[in-house]
Amino acid sequence: MDKRCTVCNHAERPEIDRQLIRGVPYRALAEQFGLSSSALRRHTKHLAGALDNQRHHQDQANLAVLLERLDILNLRLDRLFNTATDQHSLFVALGAIRESLRLVED
Ligand SMILES: [Zn+2]
Repeated sequence: MDKRCTVCNHAERPEIDRQLIRGVPYRALAEQFGLSSSALRRHTKHLAGALDNQRHHQDQANLAVLLERLDILNLRLDRLFNTATDQHSLFVALGAIRESLRLVED
């Protein structure tokens, strides 16, 4: 957010951003929200930066969920491997190892 930007500081910024993304012309928005077209044009850079940030945060959140799922799967496979080894069920132990490898590959 740019402190000098009249759009960034506008009370209805979320709505203005939504309309900019929808492609509503600067002139129409300028009139509706009492802004200048040039301010809106400058603001699109701030909007692009904000969208990039949002995407980055979403990617990070998705990654965290995936890592958590991998951890759970890994724990289950470890347990399965240990049980199979304890019971001398080498075929099942081998399967658990194979699945562990698939988790890392994909
Ligand atoms: Zn701005």
